[in-house]
Amino acid sequence: MIQITMPLNFLGTVYREIRQALVDMGEMFELLGQPAEIVDKPGAPDLKVNGGKVELDDVSFAYDPARPILKGISLKVGAGETVAIVGPSGSGKSTIGRLLFRFYDVTGGALRIDGQDVRDVTQDSVHSLIGVVPQDTVLFNDTIHYNIAYGRPDAPREELIAAAKAAKIHDFIMTLPEGYETKVGERGLKLSGGEKQRVGIARTILKNPPILLLDEATSALDTQTERDIQESLKEMGQGRTVLTIAHRLSTIADADRIVVLDKGEIVEEGRHEQLLALGGRYAAMWARQSAEEDTPRGPRLVNLEE
Ligand code: ADP
Ligand code: MG
Repeated sequence: MIQITMPLNFLGTVYREIRQALVDMGEMFELLGQPAEIVDKPGAPDLKVNGGKVELDDVSFAYDPARPILKGISLKVGAGETVAIVGPSGSGKSTIGRLLFRFYDVTGGALRIDGQDVRDVTQDSVHSLIGVVPQDTVLFNDTIHYNIAYGRPDAPREELIAAAKAAKIHDFIMTLPEGYETKVGERGLKLSGGEKQRVGIARTILKNPPILLLDEATSALDTQTERDIQESLKEMGQGRTVLTIAHRLSTIADADRIVVLDKGEIVEEGRHEQLLALGGRYAAMWARQSAEEDTPRGPRLVNLEE
């Protein structure tokens, strides 16, 4: 029995992870480009952030009208608050992030940042005020300097170094032959998954956005690297509004609030202890993941580039 199921499970894991990596690449291209159908209203003003309160007001959304994805989501993230969204794969978590970033417009309800409907302000201003850390940071075939400064190319060197230090990647960069001028990416020095995420964090710290969107920012990393990076993410979240989408619940247990999404609906909401006491969906997910963490696993095949 064991001899048969283990290889099958293993292949399943490999397959899922390869597919996930491809999906994430697709998402990154989405992040860099702008869907053509979203156009600024004539004379739209820039978003003005004062604290960075995010409000989803009865939001519905469908990529395809025949298949509703979000079904009346109401959620407030107060200025400086950290709210985590958890739930099964496909439940609509990343879609909420895409709506916040206004890659798509809501099909019902409204999404507001500090009281301004994101449909009424320029997309550029929305993008400049929200920092995104995706599951896999895509590096450009260029220097580390370029990769961190991307988004603020003319940032002073001292600020760039301060961001790298805050992301705990500066010391590593200093060990490289050409320091910040070292070429990375496909045709340069290959960085590990954790190092790439730190470059992504430094990039975001340098951008200094009042609102952060973390979409499974550490879920492709091994547990120890995830723990290390989680600390940097937490520091980055100080004084900012944070919407964090998480796969591993241990990483979001201390969020101000946790929202459990299932099939496009909020099914539970509260703090970690409250949700555990409730004994519902979250408690079941927590119990399952805690049991998995106690079970030794085989090697993970995560990063296709390594
Ligand atoms: P999660 O992040 O919770 O795993 P997503 O928000 O990415 O879920 O996706 C929710 C649902 O929307 C899934 O069923 C997914 O297949 C679908 N979906 C995601 N992106 C698109 C897209 N660009 N076009 C059509 N359907 C999509
Ligand atoms: Mg997702």
